[in-house]
Amino acid sequence: MVWTSSALKSAVILNNVFLAISGEQKVMCGIVGAVAQRDVAEILINGLHRLEYRGYDSAGLAVVNLQHELQRVRCLGKVKALNEAVEKSPLIGGTGIAHTRWATHGAPSEDNAHPHVSGNFAVVHNGIIENYEELRALLKSRGYVFTSQTDTEVIAHLVEWEMRSAGSLLEAVQNVVKQLTGAYGMVVMDRMHPEHLVAARSGSPLVIGLGIGENFLASDQLALLSVTRRFIFLEEGDIAEITRRSVDIYDRDGHKVEREAHDSNLENDAAEKGKHRHFMQKEIYEQPTALINTMEGRVTHNNVVVEAIGNGAKDILEKVEHIQIVACGTSYNSGMVSRYWFESVAGVSCDVEIASEFRYRKFVVRPNSLLITISQSGETADTLAALRLAKEKGYMAAMTICNVAGSSLVRESDLAFMTRAGVEIGVASTKAFTTQLVALLMLVVAVGKAKQTLSTEKEQDIVKALQALPAEIEKALAFDKHIETLAEDFAEKNHALFLGRGEFYPIAMEASLKLKEISYIHAEAYAAGELKHGPLALIDADMPVIVVAPNNELLEKIKSNIEEVRARGGQLYVFADKEAGFSEAEGMKIITMPTVNDITAPIYYTVPMQLLAYHIALIKGTDVDQPRNLAKAVTVE
Ligand code: GLU
Repeated sequence: MVWTSSALKSAVILNNVFLAISGEQKVMCGIVGAVAQRDVAEILINGLHRLEYRGYDSAGLAVVNLQHELQRVRCLGKVKALNEAVEKSPLIGGTGIAHTRWATHGAPSEDNAHPHVSGNFAVVHNGIIENYEELRALLKSRGYVFTSQTDTEVIAHLVEWEMRSAGSLLEAVQNVVKQLTGAYGMVVMDRMHPEHLVAARSGSPLVIGLGIGENFLASDQLALLSVTRRFIFLEEGDIAEITRRSVDIYDRDGHKVEREAHDSNLENDAAEKGKHRHFMQKEIYEQPTALINTMEGRVTHNNVVVEAIGNGAKDILEKVEHIQIVACGTSYNSGMVSRYWFESVAGVSCDVEIASEFRYRKFVVRPNSLLITISQSGETADTLAALRLAKEKGYMAAMTICNVAGSSLVRESDLAFMTRAGVEIGVASTKAFTTQLVALLMLVVAVGKAKQTLSTEKEQDIVKALQALPAEIEKALAFDKHIETLAEDFAEKNHALFLGRGEFYPIAMEASLKLKEISYIHAEAYAAGELKHGPLALIDADMPVIVVAPNNELLEKIKSNIEEVRARGGQLYVFADKEAGFSEAEGMKIITMPTVNDITAPIYYTVPMQLLAYHIALIKGTDVDQPRNLAKAVTVE
């Protein structure tokens, strides 16, 4: 049933960029669509470039022109290869859809790359269609021939089938989505009606970009910043029809709805590396500014403005008796740090749990519990599912700490406390983490104030520490060269151990996560007191041990742990306060850091850890911004 016309071009470009595909189904990738008078291929490819940071294995695009010719190009590997193919034989057409794929069903290959075509219809899709096997069998019985192993191809054939009876593409797509279970963000194009595109969203984000006499679609506004700054965020269950001059949106019940348009405040050059070699490096260096943005209007000269946490925050925070944090990855680590703060500074009990565990566990909700989700993208599938579940289970309120305005977590939570880190492109989070920590610390103060458990002096002390932090971090960045030399020691290493105590234990966890993500060195973090309960057995000359040892009340304890490692011939790298009294010795390198306030020290010590991971990855020659097997926004379970 697949439409094959001489106008349908296919280019195979083999690029030796492959992702190892595990059995796990985790990540969705990028979509761009356009309806314009001008040729759109370049806009689509430019958009895909801007989504590249999410990680993907293949890419493709299709355009139609007014003569109803549909041209499609797909290839394995980088968008650059797709661009080269299109440059060789330009695609003429004002309506088009494009995709970067992170394979979930079927290996990365040209045949499996999107767009998928059936009859007159082409489809791009992010997400997973869970009932695709049943649908595939049904469609085969209707005579459809499958040319890929993807779940997505069923959508193309279903559209083709439904169009036989439906009055419009919109109606056909409305009928199709009723048959789908799973997650999707999709855009459908009709060769016979190039004047419009129909898009549907359920569990996978989509935005409409509004132009003048042209309109666009994408899975992330970042893709469209070079053509528009005005966006409408589709909501769960929405189906939209866009033409050059109109945008019509229908909710899941088919009712026409109005969705507000927003002006984006993202920088157009956010997706450019500038003078930096990698996005990760750029984002590490952006931290002083990012932290200033996080605090702007929220911290005045000597206090934290509780109202700035959000409308109605004060009433909620006054009543809070328990905090449950739910997050994944780096965001989980920031939650772990904040647990120490919530309990010691605000006197409120706090639990932190990994979202994928929390959502499948039968948990008990304590009275007056506030649920806090933390996520850079606001689309993390497990965290979002945990939020939805928690709403049914009787939490007093749900708050999110998030970096993306208009994201699902933001929309579905009672309170959204934005981190304002700016666009983060490096897959390994850096500024997202430190801005989350600053947001959490401000929240801790707000809770302490609302509950009257925090003295004015203590608040002023924290505010001072927060205000000093951007400049301190600026200085921490000056350790770059020193850390670069240390990194050389890791060139031949395959393992590393990170140790910390108290709130520096999650900092060690984050440092180890960074190192494993981008250098592929096997790294583990331990609360230093746990050493003798197992990991000490691993210590030998090939096991570098990185210790975060600020000058706090646990210093003597961590010194003993350091001795335990030294006694067994371990190679130590100790990041310590200059007052801590360490001196270099055989097997022990000391990185002497200036003295900073105890409360913000975990944020401060994160920076040298990021630089260490970065420089080790450079030496190992890995793909720092797009580490293998990973992608930026984990929007599928
Ligand atoms: N499940 C689809 C596929 O494997 C889409 C994956 C994606 O989101 O890129 O082709």
